[in-house]
Amino acid sequence: MFNRLLIANRGEIALRILRACKELGISTVAVYSQADKDLMHVRMADQSVCIGPNSSAESYLNIAAIISACEVTGAEAVHPGYGFLAENADFAEQLERTGYTFVGPSPAVIRLMGDKVSAIRAMQKAKVPTVPGSAGVLGPNKEEHRALANKIGYPVIIKAAAGGGGRGMRVVANEDDLAEAIDLTRNEAKVAFGDNAVYMEKFLTAPRHVEVQVMADKHGNVVHLGTRDCSIQRRHQKLVEEAPAPDVSPDAYQSITQACVRACQQINYVGAGTFEFLYEKGNFYFIEMNTRIQVEHPVTEMVTGYDLVKEQIKVASGERLVFQQKDIVMRGHAIECRINAEDYRSFIPSPGKITHFHAPGGPGVRVDSHLYDDYTVPPYYDSLIAKIITYGDTRATAMRRMGAALEEIYIAGIETNVELHRDIMQAAEFVAGGDAISINYLATRPAEQAL
Ligand code: ADP
Repeated sequence: MFNRLLIANRGEIALRILRACKELGISTVAVYSQADKDLMHVRMADQSVCIGPNSSAESYLNIAAIISACEVTGAEAVHPGYGFLAENADFAEQLERTGYTFVGPSPAVIRLMGDKVSAIRAMQKAKVPTVPGSAGVLGPNKEEHRALANKIGYPVIIKAAAGGGGRGMRVVANEDDLAEAIDLTRNEAKVAFGDNAVYMEKFLTAPRHVEVQVMADKHGNVVHLGTRDCSIQRRHQKLVEEAPAPDVSPDAYQSITQACVRACQQINYVGAGTFEFLYEKGNFYFIEMNTRIQVEHPVTEMVTGYDLVKEQIKVASGERLVFQQKDIVMRGHAIECRINAEDYRSFIPSPGKITHFHAPGGPGVRVDSHLYDDYTVPPYYDSLIAKIITYGDTRATAMRRMGAALEEIYIAGIETNVELHRDIMQAAEFVAGGDAISINYLATRPAEQAL
């Protein structure tokens, strides 16, 4: 096991990683930008190093500064969390070359899955179901584009191969708009990602977002830890997640989880990962793989009883997975609400000083948050300030506990989206769950449309 680990992230996930290290007896190094010197995990870490000014480009994305921090502090491994450098193959490669362990899969695997087109190809090889589409980058021939779209059937979606974060996508309703949409997406992709490669998929009109958590060690052991439903999204960003995904037939569950395990074996996957699918009318369609820990990992931890962050670190150090597939038993139901520093109607960020913070508690309630009284949320980074996770023996119990926790939580001084979560927990569609919700749910609610 490592003696010392550097946490290349901030906020709640940095604190989450620090807690896992404490349990494992690993000494911790926090790195932070000037704006983040008062972060909770920076105060609690054994060592801390300022790696740059406020802008993330000059701090949390500054590979040279992070590697120097490893050298100065004697860290042996780096946990990237999510976002920032978590899916940056060059970062993983440079760490490896300079003798540090990246907590995650190999640079080659990050690269393979980071390019959406090569990822889709790898999935097809492993017989993981994908969205009907071009199965490759679109060439220059407009006639071919029209023929392909007609074959797939409108609406179609044009997506940047190098896209991410919900950007670089355009839905096309009919042939008249096709050529222009391809040109526009190409240009945007070139500017945003430095790569103008685009591909085409069928646009699914009312799917759910269902994903499969996997975990693999360096000795060829691969397991899945079931499903999550993350269909409650605003602007393609998840707001509420739950495990297991409701209303998935045992047959569909069996075949999709087996397909994910098979895919991991084929690509030599190591660490924690998530296969994301659109799920419509009982069918799964792969959209992408996240080669890192995800924000919503706690719901899986609650229903399986395993600590995924601890397992990630152990696997990176070369240990075998402590569990086999037969040990993983899903019990009960868990829900997570992402609390953001933003106006709950307009989603406009609301950074500033938290004058008072009171966390909810009680049986089956977990709060992952770096907040404390008088902490100032800086304007430079993601607006996630807390995750409330509730657990119950049934979905109804988890939901009622979430309702109570959302009444109890108190965050003064800034705007948050707590009110929106209270609404969602009471909405007839969410209470029904499963196929009553699609990824369009939040955008099409009357309350949201009235704005
Ligand atoms: P990103 O990497 O930018 O998050 P994804 O490929 O994961 O891109 O897609 C993000 C979101 O866009 C999905 O969660 C879904 O809401 C929507 N989306 C993507 N592809 C399709 C599709 N073929 N049909 C319908 N919606 C889609």
